[in-house]
Amino acid sequence: MISENLAQLKQTLPEHVTLIAVSKTKPISDLEEAYQANQRIFGENKVQEMCDKYEALPKDIEWHFIGHLQTNKVKYMAGFVHLIHAVDSFKLLKEINKQAAKHKRVQNVLLQFHIAEEESKFGLSLDEVNNILNSDEYKKLENINICGAMGMATFTENKQQITNEFKSLASIFNSLKQTPFADSTDFKEISMGMSGDYKLAIEAGSTMVRVGSSIFGSRNY
Ligand SMILES: *Cc1c(COP(=O)(O)O)cnc(C)c1O
Repeated sequence: MISENLAQLKQTLPEHVTLIAVSKTKPISDLEEAYQANQRIFGENKVQEMCDKYEALPKDIEWHFIGHLQTNKVKYMAGFVHLIHAVDSFKLLKEINKQAAKHKRVQNVLLQFHIAEEESKFGLSLDEVNNILNSDEYKKLENINICGAMGMATFTENKQQITNEFKSLASIFNSLKQTPFADSTDFKEISMGMSGDYKLAIEAGSTMVRVGSSIFGSRNY
């Protein structure tokens, strides 16, 4: 089932869009099935769970951390995580830099922007990010590579609203892309779109979709 779902999904994705298979809460056997079907990029939102799966599975997997990240947990994954999608504070960015330095790594991250109407969604504003990027403290962070922007749309049936929110993230990305900061990083990704809205996200300019339930089935919490 998982391999069929993956094959179907991949047919609908343009070549420039990277698929993150969101495997949170799913057993190792499900990830193995996706791995057998050639999926190499997995997304998780709990640090302990991602570390356990990293230990258990082949080492050519790229692990993406897609959830809200607490500073005290960065150290557990700093040795292997490929991309941290949801950096939502300067404090967190500095901690990621510190832990990456211990492993002599340059850590790829995305900045999470608040684009949804809902209060509950985490994320930065463009003003906050500009303040970070223009600070002397940021310029000293040598073990960070900001690769782009990430966001989540409001959980709603209103497609126009979802599209507007995705477009607002694309426009934030484009304005940052034009600042000098983008020349010193690999600032090129827009991570937006999940099972219910990835098609709208791609139309609005997404380069990375984070899809879970359409591949692995619905989750039981
Ligand atoms: C769970 C999750 C997803 C995937 O959600 P689905 O609706 O199952 O595709 C994507 N992004 C984030 C941040 C998530 O937590």
